[in-house]
Amino acid sequence: MVKTRLAPSPTGKLHIGTARTALFNFLFAQKNKGKFILRIEDTDLDRSRPEFEKDILEGLKWLGIEWDEPKSGVYRQSQRLDLYQQFFAQLKKEGLVYECFCTPKELEKEREEMRKAGLLPRYSGRCKGLGEDEKKKMRKKRQPAWRLDVEKVVEKGGLPEVLVFNDLIRGEIKKNVKEIGDFVVVKSDQMPVFFFAGVVDDYLMKITHVIRGEDHITNTFSQLLLYKALSISPPQFAHIPLILEKDRSKMSKRRGGSQVFDLRQKGYLPQAVVNFLALLGWSPKDDSEFLSLEELKQRFDLKGIKKGGSIFDREKLDYLAGLWIRHFKPQRLVEFFLEWLEWRSKNLGEDSLFLSIDRGQLLKIISIFQTRSVVLEDFLQAEYIFKMSDYPRELLIFKRSDLDKTKKGLENSLKAIKNYQSAWQIEKIKEVLVGVVEKSGLNNGDVFWPVRVALSGQSGSPSPQELMWVLGKKESLKRLKKALEKLSS
Ligand code: GLU
Repeated sequence: MVKTRLAPSPTGKLHIGTARTALFNFLFAQKNKGKFILRIEDTDLDRSRPEFEKDILEGLKWLGIEWDEPKSGVYRQSQRLDLYQQFFAQLKKEGLVYECFCTPKELEKEREEMRKAGLLPRYSGRCKGLGEDEKKKMRKKRQPAWRLDVEKVVEKGGLPEVLVFNDLIRGEIKKNVKEIGDFVVVKSDQMPVFFFAGVVDDYLMKITHVIRGEDHITNTFSQLLLYKALSISPPQFAHIPLILEKDRSKMSKRRGGSQVFDLRQKGYLPQAVVNFLALLGWSPKDDSEFLSLEELKQRFDLKGIKKGGSIFDREKLDYLAGLWIRHFKPQRLVEFFLEWLEWRSKNLGEDSLFLSIDRGQLLKIISIFQTRSVVLEDFLQAEYIFKMSDYPRELLIFKRSDLDKTKKGLENSLKAIKNYQSAWQIEKIKEVLVGVVEKSGLNNGDVFWPVRVALSGQSGSPSPQELMWVLGKKESLKRLKKALEKLSS
C-alpha cells in the first residue's frame, strides 16, 4: 500500500512550500488509495515551538488536507526518542559512528580553511582517530556529537564511489561519496538530527514514497548511507521543484505573503489556495485550471510535475481566487465570510461591523459584491452600506456632465423613487432610473453616476439600482437628499 507523509519542522508558520508538499503527498496517497501520515519533526529544541505546530495543523485542516495517521493528534519526534536511541545503539555497536568533540567555532575555522584552499568544505574527520585516553579527557570537558563514519558504511555496504538514486521526478541523481563528509547523526545535546530520525520513522511507519522539496536532495544521499548502515531499505524519492518568485529568485520565508496564514488573513478561499498550490509545479494532462480538491484526488500523478522551478504567480492566484468566489452561491459565501470574520476576530483581535448585521442584509450585500471580489476581504469595502463616510461634492459630477445636469438628474431621481410603489427589485429600480434619463432628456452619466455616488460616497461601487436594493427605499431617499443638499451648498 502506498504510504506518504508530511514531516514539517515546527520552526515557523505553515509555509506555502510546505503546504504544497503536503498537498502533493496527500493527493498521491488518495489517488493510489493509500495513506497519508503527519509527523512533526521537532528535535531541534532551540527552534521548535508549539505555536508553530498549532499553526501548521490548523492550516492543513483549513485547506482540507487530512491525515490518516495518527487517527487523532500527531506523531512527534520528541516523543519517539527511545526508538531513535535503539537504532543509534545499532550504529554504535557496529562501530559506524564516532564521537566528535569539535566546537562550532573549530568547525567553522576548518570549513573556512578548506574554502580558502579551493576545496569543498566538509568535515575533515579530525575526531575519527582519537584514542581512548583523549576521548576520556574530552568527555570531561563537553558532551560529544556523534558522526557517521561514511567510509566504513561504504565498505560495509559494498557501495560504489558514485552513489545513485532514481528520483521519480528527476530521474537518476548522482553524487560522489567523497563529497560527503562524516555528518552528525546525534547532536551534542543528544538529540538525533531530523534526517536520521526521519530515516527511522519512514522505515517504522512503512513509508513507500517520500515526496519533498528538492532542497532535500543532499539529505537524501546522507539518508541513503544511513539506510545502508542500518541494513534497511529506503523508500522511493520524488523531489519537487522549488517555488520561485516571479524574478526566479527563491521564495523567501521572510517576505510577507509566503505563509498560508497570510493568505487566510487576506480572505482567500481555501478552495482557491488548494487549486493554486496544485498547479504550482504540477499540471493535468488536459491543462484544465479550475480544479477542486475532489477532482485533484482523482487526477493527480507524479508525471505531471515539472522539473524546473515553479513560479509563485500572484496574478494567477488572484485569477483562480476570483473564479472560486464567483463559483459559490451567495448563501455559501455568507457562511465563508462569517467564519472568516470570526477567525480574524479570534486570531487578530479585529472586530467587524459585519458580524452584527442582519443575515438577510448580508446576503444581499454579498450578492451584489460577488462579481467584483477576489477575496473575502473585498466584501469589507461594503462598509459604506451602513456607515457612510463623507465624500467631496465634486465626486457627484460625472466627468462629461455639469452641476446643473447633475442637480436635475438627482432631483428627478429622488422624485421618481419617492413615487415608486411597486416591488423593490434591482431590475425594476433600474427601469425607474432609465425612465428618469428618458423623460428629462439627460444622459446616463447625469443620472446613474450621481445617484450611485450619493448612495455609496465612492468613485467605484456596484450600480445604483443594486445599492438601492440593499439599502432599502427609506435610506436611499435619505442619501439622495443629502447629496442634493451638498450640491446646493
Ligand atoms: N523536517 C524537514 C523539513 O521540515 C522535512 C524532512 C523530510 O521531508 O524528509 O524540511
